[in-house]
Amino acid sequence: MPELPEVETIRRQLAPRLEGRTIVRAEILDPRWTRPEPPASVEAELCGSGVERVGRAGKYLVWSLSGERYLLMHLRMTGVLLLDPLADPPHTSVRLNLDAGHRLIYVDPRRFGTGHLVLGARARDAYFAARIGAEPFTPEFTTEYLCRVARGRTAPVKSFITDQRRVAGVGNIYADEALFRAGIHPLRPAGRLSTVQWARLRGAIEEALRAGIEAKGASIDDFRHIDGARGSFQDRFLVHRRAGEPCPNCGRPVRKIVVGGRGTYVCGHCQRTPRLGGTSARRPATEATKPQAATPRRAVPPDRRPAVPRSPRASGRRSRSGGR
Ligand SMILES: [Zn+2]
Repeated sequence: MPELPEVETIRRQLAPRLEGRTIVRAEILDPRWTRPEPPASVEAELCGSGVERVGRAGKYLVWSLSGERYLLMHLRMTGVLLLDPLADPPHTSVRLNLDAGHRLIYVDPRRFGTGHLVLGARARDAYFAARIGAEPFTPEFTTEYLCRVARGRTAPVKSFITDQRRVAGVGNIYADEALFRAGIHPLRPAGRLSTVQWARLRGAIEEALRAGIEAKGASIDDFRHIDGARGSFQDRFLVHRRAGEPCPNCGRPVRKIVVGGRGTYVCGHCQRTPRLGGTSARRPATEATKPQAATPRRAVPPDRRPAVPRSPRASGRRSRSGGR
């Protein structure tokens, strides 16, 4: 699925070619694209509209049209935009004819892509406010923001940063790459990351996205440029889709695990595996180390541990760790 760098690549290719043009004819061949709006009413709004700006919000392409109309396009799984192809490929779902003989074709074999037309900047902002969180590379994407929205969240940090309502534009590829760069295990609960870790991850997300944009996106499946060419970021992945290959940091093999139902790639050495199980997972470790520090290790057999007075110390520890 195209993520921020892929959509930004498309945007950078389309903007100089389409801004200032006029849509002279719009044909929406797949009614699912505009659902719940009927295609005919969207076609009527598009026809005669001037393209003022081609922007992006998260994984959406945002077409600013004349008359304060906005076309919000999402490529979802397999959507591809082609400018001036020689012929319409199979699975063409939208055809936009522009002045000076240009044609933009939206192709989507899986048909999950969408195009919503909204009227007015306020409607556009409301649409995105309900769907996407802070946008990387903007002033709102701060460590403080990430700490605040992650507070108390037990979901794995990978699921958290790929949730579009938290972080706009990050998906499976760039989450793996960013977590590896930050040295953070994808299964670590989001609410348990320290401020320092969030600061590192924030920077790593932008680094991974920037590398993807520089390589003009990753074409591991359907993603193509507007002339049908492939991106090259798939050749520069550090860990994503590199199971069994050596970690670029330490040389140990990259492993594939599953997080939130998605194939996920990690170096178990550079991204330390978290101790799961909430606060209770901390207690045995603390109790095991405490007597050891006071007395030689062999003098404290494991069966003595339950005899350690529990309640006052345990509650003290809990409140300390809770306050962290
Ligand atoms: Zn490693």
